[in-house]
Amino acid sequence: MHCQIVGGGLLGLTSAWFLRKLGYEVSLYEKDEEVSLGTSFANGGMLHASEANPWNHPGIFWQALKMLGKEDSALLIRPYAVAGMLPWIFSFFINSSVSRFKKNLEKNARLAQFSIKVLKDEFLPLGLDFDCRQVGTLKIYSNSSALAIACSLADEASAMGIRHTTLNRSELLELEPCLEDAKGELVGGIHYPDDISGDAYSFCKALSRVCVESGIDIRLNSPVDEILVRDGKFGGLRVNNETVSGDVCVLAAGCGSKALAKPLGIKVPLEPVKGYSITVDAKEWRLKPRMPIIDESRHAAVCPLGSRLRIAGTAEFAGFNADMVTARIDNLSDVCEALFPFTKNIARDSDVSPWFGYRPMTSDGVGIIGGTDLQGLFLNTGHGHLGWTMAPGSGKLIADIISDNPTVISKTDYLLSRF
Ligand SMILES: Cc1cc2nc3c(=O)[nH]c(=O)nc-3n(C[C@H](O)[C@H](O)[C@H](O)COP(=O)(O)OP(=O)(O)OC[C@H]3O[C@@H](n4cnc5c(N)ncnc54)[C@H](O)[C@@H]3O)c2cc1C
Repeated sequence: MHCQIVGGGLLGLTSAWFLRKLGYEVSLYEKDEEVSLGTSFANGGMLHASEANPWNHPGIFWQALKMLGKEDSALLIRPYAVAGMLPWIFSFFINSSVSRFKKNLEKNARLAQFSIKVLKDEFLPLGLDFDCRQVGTLKIYSNSSALAIACSLADEASAMGIRHTTLNRSELLELEPCLEDAKGELVGGIHYPDDISGDAYSFCKALSRVCVESGIDIRLNSPVDEILVRDGKFGGLRVNNETVSGDVCVLAAGCGSKALAKPLGIKVPLEPVKGYSITVDAKEWRLKPRMPIIDESRHAAVCPLGSRLRIAGTAEFAGFNADMVTARIDNLSDVCEALFPFTKNIARDSDVSPWFGYRPMTSDGVGIIGGTDLQGLFLNTGHGHLGWTMAPGSGKLIADIISDNPTVISKTDYLLSRF
């Protein structure tokens, strides 16, 4: 049985790995000259079940209205992008009701915890070098009421198996001494010990090497132009103007998945949500974090990756706008400076690498894993702000769905047919 994967990002590569393990002949097609140059290139670096909450939380509507058009806000909605995504926006706000949000959070929490277990059981033993740390993540607060709200949410997450410890100021500084100079009065934090971190790009590069060793055919510079139908079923792909036949396909093309499925009459409710990161060389820093630190008030995180530091965050609804907007990058400099006051306007340093990517976001904030109306065509995409967290688990899940193997988490929770 020949399985074709479209997309060489986190989701395509983990899907390919597990399908090969189950005995499939696997070919993966990636349009770029390397794997992982899309959204999986310089993300925030965190595998965090603690962040399983969809972004459309109750109250998001009013929050989003206040931020409309504000260049320096954490969530920026560019008015010109709104017209083209009205049905998606409508569904995004519908899914922010208390009951839907809770149901979607539970689905994400189950998949995220499963995924972290899969990373530990299946990928860490391969010895892939990706600056992995298993020391958890830390959320910090400079406002007591924000900390209290976060603590009650963390208590609810405990019921879903996501462990945490609440820290007062001195416990916070004991766990992360690098915060001693942080601006403003930090009142406390929450430590999530089971979260993991690591560099997604290094992971993908290392995984692609072992994929090739295991017999997976990775075709670079191979844009898929069309998904073919034969006898009413999936029939192969048009790649670089050539037809390549296959039995089964996993569409894992990130934000490109929607356009590829559309001519088949398959609607994938995905929109790109642009986010930024900067990567800084912190080798010489006197104080640097041991673990990722999330500043919720700024929707940004600082994550140590070897001797580098990745500062990532912000969300912008701007379609596929490809401008590197200085104000968004400056936001990240500000986050860095607030935590480490000796860094000022760090994004302007010549050796700092700015980057942006498009999170493939569904309107309910839950990824899409499973079959479609076209027999033989499967999806593994739409993991939004959680694609690194979910990649190991959803790669295993899609392979087990295709092979009709029993699974430990639901096969139906993540289907496209829920929309
Ligand atoms: C700023 C930022 C910070 C983030 N931080 C985190 C984090 O800390 N933790 C977390 O869990 N997630 C995080 N994410 C989200 C995560 O990075 C994404 O969800 C994930 O990378 C998506 O992976 P993917 O494989 O679906 O898509 P991609 O990585 O985009 O891969 C899709 C691939 O398909 C290829 N492709 C597209 N169209 C075609 C075609 N027609 N033919 C052939 N190939 C094609 C593309 O070139 C690309 O390589 C972050 C995202 C951003 C932007």
